[in-house]
Amino acid sequence: MQVEIKNSRINCYQCMRPSCSCICKHINPIQTKTRFIILMHPKEYKREKNGTGHMTKLQLENSEIIVGIDFTNNKRVNEILNDEKNSSFLLYPGKENFNLSLRKSSEIISFMGNNPYIFLLDGTWPCARKMLKLSKNLQQLKRVSFDNKIKSKFIFKQQPAPLCLSTIESVYTLLNLLKEGDLEYCETKDFLIPFEKMIDYQLEYILNPNNKNYSSTANKEIITKNKYKINPQRSIVFEQERK
Ligand SMILES: [Zn+2]
Repeated sequence: MQVEIKNSRINCYQCMRPSCSCICKHINPIQTKTRFIILMHPKEYKREKNGTGHMTKLQLENSEIIVGIDFTNNKRVNEILNDEKNSSFLLYPGKENFNLSLRKSSEIISFMGNNPYIFLLDGTWPCARKMLKLSKNLQQLKRVSFDNKIKSKFIFKQQPAPLCLSTIESVYTLLNLLKEGDLEYCETKDFLIPFEKMIDYQLEYILNPNNKNYSSTANKEIITKNKYKINPQRSIVFEQERK
């Protein structure tokens, strides 16, 4: 199911969403020790209606967005990587990666240090893979991952696998693991509110019989979610195998 609001201009340049579904009033940024670097695919930047990169940035005081595909010669990325004070990591799925869900607090702290920089690839799953394939500097980064136990609420964004998470859900999961590891002390309970509000807006939109995307089967599709598995297109960054 494709939920595209045709011809609707982006009106809010904060959250990059149409003004009718602007989520800025639900933004409540938190301070973290970890710095989050959101590497955003240009395609994702343009169709932020369904993306969560911008809202993730708005929710995190200590974060930034860098747009690109190949970051090998990206000045800002290299500035971060070349600064010896920083310890940088890439959040990326993979069995060999440092798995935050399985490690003890002391192991996490000795692996990551006190003020890690975490790079996230924000784009569809094929885009994220391509970004990493092209970016030689990012390939050198130590990788962290986690066992994804929460099921994405992002029902409007087709995911390549049922347990794929949006960028904001990935950061939320990561922050909670860093809290368990005594690396973060921030309050995360309201972190996903803008994301939940965005879903509410989208639900309202497709369930409204007055709009042209209305489908009487919408409810059923939303619950079963089966379609998303066969359409690998609009998805995001984090994927973990089902156990
Ligand atoms: Zn806004």
